Amino acid sequence: MLWYPYEQMKTMNVPYHIVDAKGVYLYTDDQKMIDSVSSWWSVIHGYNHPVLNQAIDDQLKHFAHVMLGGLTHDPALRLAEKLKTYLPGDLNYSFFSDSGSVAVEVALKMALQYYMNRNETQRTMVLSLENGYHGDTFKTMEVGDDADYHFVLKAFGPNPHVVHIPTTVAALEEAFDTYHDRLNCCLVEPLLQGAGGMRMYDISFLKRARELCDKYDVLLLFDEIATGFGRTGHRFVSDLVQPDILMLGKALTGGYIGHAVTVANQKVFDGFYDDNPEHAFMHGPTFMGNALACSVALKSIELFENEHYMDKIQRIAEITRREMENFTDSRIEDVRMMGGCVCIEVKDAKTLEGYQQFAYDRGVFARPFLKYLYAMVPYVITEEELVKVLTTMKAWFKTH
Ligand SMILES: *Cc1c(COP(=O)(O)O)cnc(C)c1O
Repeated sequence: MLWYPYEQMKTMNVPYHIVDAKGVYLYTDDQKMIDSVSSWWSVIHGYNHPVLNQAIDDQLKHFAHVMLGGLTHDPALRLAEKLKTYLPGDLNYSFFSDSGSVAVEVALKMALQYYMNRNETQRTMVLSLENGYHGDTFKTMEVGDDADYHFVLKAFGPNPHVVHIPTTVAALEEAFDTYHDRLNCCLVEPLLQGAGGMRMYDISFLKRARELCDKYDVLLLFDEIATGFGRTGHRFVSDLVQPDILMLGKALTGGYIGHAVTVANQKVFDGFYDDNPEHAFMHGPTFMGNALACSVALKSIELFENEHYMDKIQRIAEITRREMENFTDSRIEDVRMMGGCVCIEVKDAKTLEGYQQFAYDRGVFARPFLKYLYAMVPYVITEEELVKVLTTMKAWFKTH
């Protein structure tokens, strides 16, 4: 029996049974619906894309997977080279893994070992954000801050190695004042906190974080697993403020195959590069650098560049702004927009009960959670389709 994610198996609604998917559409036996959440924000080119399908077919003629232990291959080498030129500054060293959570684990382990390699053993702490989400593995739950996902951690009591702060410069400065000599890194979802409630904050916070990290020699880590590839309206937030370690996942393979990457800059890489074997980075997921995943990721980036996806995202942002302008309802707390993302936060989660079926009946798949009704559409969506997604969201408040 299939055990579903984030669900009480006893009381959950029957999930929609998908039999086909193409472009922005998911098909059940009796309905065709626009996927307004892009399969957890990953399917940026839509489903069943001929160019991405071809990339996988071509690689399959050679091999699906070869491990990177003692071996190497073109798809992994080429993706690492591509990321080196594609990502800003000296974010040049790609460590692959099979999921976003693991990419964050890798980043946190790298940051800790960076200082251990220098015998700065007191730097055991991580500074991260309230309402942050970095995955569902144990360390990522610790650095995350969302009781709805992580309440199981209560079993262990307060964690002395993690500090959570709100996204204000004052809180940031205070945390650095107090903890700077014990911190190994500051980890954030830059500009847009996704699973913690589609919360948006200002770039000035990140600029100040960069300054303070430089001042106190703390590593700055950006989890761009959700924000990467244009979701905030910037290609990467790392184009605006450069972290020492960057994590990408979700849209990395265009939503085709679970894969992620932790990218280190020169400074971090140099912290491991010497003659001492104990200074090696001791990590190696079985499927890291999977050849199918790397091949499809390369094609996904090529599409993103050649077909001017930043312009598509700009258009999505404009249409969204136009459609949501002046939309209010007494039950709504806030309407937030950023790049290819819109979120309606309601005052009471009950307001959204029944929305999923309402949207399904109108040909839209949505997955509101808690007090948040949001859309993160595939970038290939047409204006008409996007308007339909947004109109459906507004119609719920008009008719209920
Ligand atoms: C989804 C997500 C992760 C976890 O990625 P998985 O591939 O689900 O393990 C980590 N960080 C952020 C910001 C995410 O949105």
